[in-house]
Amino acid sequence: MEVAIVINEEGEFSPDIGSYLNEEFGSVGVYVLNDPERCVREISASSAEIVIVTEGCEEFHRQDIRGSNPNLFLVAFDIVSEKSKEKHFLSSLKFLKDNRCNLVFSFNTRANRYLIITPEESIYGGSKSFEKSISELFKMIKDRSGLTYDRTNFIPGSNFSIADTSEKFRTVLEYLINQGAYQINNGNGFTPGHFCQRINDYSFLSSQRKANHNNVFKEGMSLVVVRDGQFTCFGKRKQSVGARSQFLMLEKYPDYDCIIHTHNPILKGSEINKVSQKPFQCGSLECGLNTLGGMRDYNGIKATYLKKHGPNIMFKSSHNGIINFLEDNFDLTKKTWNR
Ligand SMILES: [Zn+2]
Repeated sequence: MEVAIVINEEGEFSPDIGSYLNEEFGSVGVYVLNDPERCVREISASSAEIVIVTEGCEEFHRQDIRGSNPNLFLVAFDIVSEKSKEKHFLSSLKFLKDNRCNLVFSFNTRANRYLIITPEESIYGGSKSFEKSISELFKMIKDRSGLTYDRTNFIPGSNFSIADTSEKFRTVLEYLINQGAYQINNGNGFTPGHFCQRINDYSFLSSQRKANHNNVFKEGMSLVVVRDGQFTCFGKRKQSVGARSQFLMLEKYPDYDCIIHTHNPILKGSEINKVSQKPFQCGSLECGLNTLGGMRDYNGIKATYLKKHGPNIMFKSSHNGIINFLEDNFDLTKKTWNR
């Protein structure tokens, strides 16, 4: 994997990561950020697949390099000065979402602690040791870069009403919303998690990205049609990033029609099968296969718990135990990162 590292004009990034990078990656190009537009152009023209942007390079982020190079794996360094771990996380999560990063390596000067923040709103790292933290970061970059994503053909139009889904599906969503399961915390007004209902073998109604799921009864959903592996989405917004996972599950379990995924913690004592999310970015084919591999049957409900992330649950509109199942296994009032 070829890596481009961006440093600011002063050429300062502390501590020096150059030696660590050379050990871990095949080829490393260093770009000094004196002309941000040129810098983005040069990296785009290079064969770098991973871009690591060190602190003090806000000008670089304003160029939105992933806008024209969506396959680039973008890692950014962030420095904050926050009193609590929660504020540290929220500040760097907003930075990640604003700049469309794949990972953020964040140092809190007050706590002298490093966190690694992911797009699925999880926290890794947590050590005060730079060496330990940077090794963990590089392992995650290696795992998470080069994963497989389906590009969607998006056809903007009206949304599809949730009234077109089953009564059970709507009851469960209403219940989740009333419990506070869909919480906004990335500073952009969007809620994590996703949900969908099957229409037939090749299409389903899916929740939307960059949406507040609490408004789904007013705003509606997107229609996703999958033909020969090509995803086409109709609606006001693109389907949730999790639609890849949703389709894998719908394909594997043709008798099941409903899927929900939230970012709520599992209760102590729950026996739901857990799998690690750490090596996989949400939305990748590999993440979908990992989720599918973790699913087990619980009296007619299929479920797995993605560690530090949240549950993925599949059920039939005819099943009457889904609300009890949610109550028995998850704390729907809390965000996963708390646990
Ligand atoms: Zn998620």
